[in-house]
Amino acid sequence: MKRLIPTLLFLPACLLFLQYGSLAQTDSKNTARAGNDILLKNYHPVSIYNIPITRVTKAAWPVTDMHSHDYAKSDADIDRWVRAMDSSGIARTVILTYSTGPRFDSIVDKYSRYKGRFLFYCGFDYTGFGQPGWAEKAIAELNRCYQKGARGIGELGDKGEGELYSYPTPGRGIHIDNPALKPLLSRCGALKMPVIIHVAEDRWMYQQPDASNDGLMNAEKWHVNMQVPGKLDHDQLLASLSKAVGENPNVTFVACHFANCCSDLNVLGDLLSRHPNLYADIAARYAETGPIPRFAAAFITRWQDRLVYGTDMGTEASMYRSTFRILETTDEHFYDPSLSDYHWALYGFNLPKDVLRKLYQANAEKIITQH
Ligand SMILES: [Zn+2]
Repeated sequence: MKRLIPTLLFLPACLLFLQYGSLAQTDSKNTARAGNDILLKNYHPVSIYNIPITRVTKAAWPVTDMHSHDYAKSDADIDRWVRAMDSSGIARTVILTYSTGPRFDSIVDKYSRYKGRFLFYCGFDYTGFGQPGWAEKAIAELNRCYQKGARGIGELGDKGEGELYSYPTPGRGIHIDNPALKPLLSRCGALKMPVIIHVAEDRWMYQQPDASNDGLMNAEKWHVNMQVPGKLDHDQLLASLSKAVGENPNVTFVACHFANCCSDLNVLGDLLSRHPNLYADIAARYAETGPIPRFAAAFITRWQDRLVYGTDMGTEASMYRSTFRILETTDEHFYDPSLSDYHWALYGFNLPKDVLRKLYQANAEKIITQH
């Protein structure tokens, strides 16, 4: 009997072990299968680190958001937006309408209850481009928009096939260095209307969407198809911007999104050093610069007099706060789906207070026409 007891006790323990062993085996099989089968689009990593999380409710200084759009669909949306701006420290927002004509007017009217909180930039009117008298008509429409309140141009946008962002008539095949635009740009200089322009896309979007592509998780949406005859590539578009900025020294240009040079900020640095009338906004590229915090912070600090804050990502207070977290804190290795669909972990830049002051507002003051 005495000898039996340990044996009897041992048996269930053995069974338990066997059972656990087979469970563990199944589990590891599942894990292995999951590792192979999870689609990139379904992968949403969560940081494992128990490290400080800094919530920045309000920006360190009052902010001018130099890159936003007409997101509000109703008066209630505008009220909500202004409340989000108030609670986050956004003093005013530049709405890049892309538009001329009745659409521009209606956007200005829509926000008129909040005087001083929103500024409006219009488009260029390409209607009838190439026909005699086009430049005069386009300048007349520019003057009219100015009278209605436009204080800048934007967002012009050229991803290789011309200024397609403009409404009502896209500038197909028209790049910013087109000599026909010269009179219009001169008028912008005379009216002190800055030109906000998006050229190209970030480098990885031109690369093959294969297993080595660093931004592959976004390739389906953002890959640039270069199989279009005559389409300008990244470097050609940057060259067209550089040429236009150089040929129009009286016009202030703002290149959107770090001029889409996030993977090689030195290219933008080179442009900024060559052209004193060029600025860049940092809108919607927090996810592209968040993975390289030391380099990005050094770049922003180097060019602290020539970069401006922007969002381009909607109207939520949480969105503004995510951008402040990147710019102001030392937080490490976090993911923020409100800023990006990349799987890249983000890191705070910990920018000095005085650099933040310039980025958030002082540089915008220099650019924005005050009359
Ligand atoms: Zn934009």
